[in-house]
Amino acid sequence: SRLFSSKESRDARKALRRLFGYDDFRPGQGEVIEAILAGEDVFAVMPTGSGKSMCYQLPAALDGGLTVVVSPLIALMRDQVRQMQAIGIAAASLNSANDEAEGREAWRQLVSGELSLLFVSPERLAGEGLLQRLRELGVRRLAIDEAHCVSQWGHDFRPEYRQLTRVREVLGDVQVVALTATADRATRDDIAAQLFPKPPRSFVHSFDRPNLSLRFAVKDRPRSQIADFLAGHKGGSGIVYAASRDRTESLAAHLETKGHRALPYHAGLEQSVRSRHQDIFLQEDGVVMVATIAFGMGINKPDVRFVVHADMPGGVEAYYQEIGRAGRDGLPADTLTLYSLEDMAFRRRQIDEKDVDPERHRVEHQRLTAMTDLCELATCRRQALLAYFGEESGPCGSCDLCLEGARLYDAQTDAQKVLSAVARTGQRFGAGHLADVLLGQETDAVKRHGHQELKTFGAGKERSRRSWSAIVRQLFAAGALSEAGEHGGFAMTQKGVDVLFGREPIRLRVQDESTARRDRGGDR
Ligand code: ADP
Ligand code: ZN
Repeated sequence: SRLFSSKESRDARKALRRLFGYDDFRPGQGEVIEAILAGEDVFAVMPTGSGKSMCYQLPAALDGGLTVVVSPLIALMRDQVRQMQAIGIAAASLNSANDEAEGREAWRQLVSGELSLLFVSPERLAGEGLLQRLRELGVRRLAIDEAHCVSQWGHDFRPEYRQLTRVREVLGDVQVVALTATADRATRDDIAAQLFPKPPRSFVHSFDRPNLSLRFAVKDRPRSQIADFLAGHKGGSGIVYAASRDRTESLAAHLETKGHRALPYHAGLEQSVRSRHQDIFLQEDGVVMVATIAFGMGINKPDVRFVVHADMPGGVEAYYQEIGRAGRDGLPADTLTLYSLEDMAFRRRQIDEKDVDPERHRVEHQRLTAMTDLCELATCRRQALLAYFGEESGPCGSCDLCLEGARLYDAQTDAQKVLSAVARTGQRFGAGHLADVLLGQETDAVKRHGHQELKTFGAGKERSRRSWSAIVRQLFAAGALSEAGEHGGFAMTQKGVDVLFGREPIRLRVQDESTARRDRGGDR
């Protein structure tokens, strides 16, 4: 290929070996680096752990001029500066964590023209003093890490990134390189429009991480489910993600009683506690970090052996990025995601409570639907996950659904019972009340609303309460029910109406009734 014939890339490979001690490029790196060295504007979408930083580090080491790297994470900048200095590449960072001497030294190196790499936060870069000085000194290349932060459609929008459009203009005809690990189609287009004056060379590297096993399970007895999973991973380091601060603490405490070394991590903990827990996780083996999403970005620990989601993530990109922290050394690693109807409703509320424009709401709901679809899927998880990132593939043979399969049945009768109960109770009650009606339970609420008089009252005695709520969840995930009212109530969508009147078939997953009547006491 062109890659191996050009002199630049031969030199690049030599430099990779000489400076970094690596034998070869990682998949995708070589072509990105070649395009950068050829002076093109480049937009690279590459998964976490694929070695994105190398894409600007190596060209900066090779071609002399100054590369300004924009990164949102101070810890990451400092790490990279240290790594670059250790191999003799002149690098510095300007950030709010600099002490005075560091700041002065960085500035001196910059002004004297010694620097190959300058790491800055976007807000720092946009400040007038630095920007004007950079314009005078001349910048060879602007490398924008975590480029999805510039897009409102991205899952991690940061308003500071918006200023980069102006930065690029002020710096004049500077080469722009944007890198990100996550971006769906809409986000990618938006990033390109914001950061590049004309369409860049785009590279989208495969998102497949074949060494990660993917498994999902309905959240039933979460503590035991997590403890059982961890029992199979004794001695390995891993992360358990939970949706709230309280839950990280209670889960960590629970896992401790089961003999694990488990530490909580969330933004509400003292900075000193957070750094201590992070250090222990990085330095010791077999530590389980029980964390909110505050943990992970920029954590470079190659031998994370598992990632568990104790609660369903809010979107596929977040899910992918979080599981992607496992197995960065390429060795097998396991993931488990627990999900429930409550999780889905919680995520929906989170979106609705955001004070953003309707278009944004729509996009976020779409994104959430993609996540709930992934949970309620009946075919290969990996295939669906890759399809979300625009990649075609066959069944993987190693996810829970490939291994165990989802048994589907024609669920028209069950669905019609639920939908009819929803319709007859006025489209505002939650799963618990709907189950009471179907099971024929004369609870206070049933009597108060006169629901014991309904035709559907007692029409579903053949199933358990758990089974009915699983059916409600699947109908919700399938878009036949939507949320209504303020207390987890449901209404029918157009699709629900079509199913109710037999105009649309519906298949749902077979419920395992043998576990339905298990005692759930105390398992939160
Ligand atoms: P990303 O930003 O894509 O998540 P990083 O840039 O942090 O990934 O790189 C992940 C790890 O891979 C780093 O430890 C880096 O030194 C290493 N790495 C990068 N390029 C190569 C290579 N060509 N061969 C081996 N290791 C590499
Ligand atoms: Zn599969």
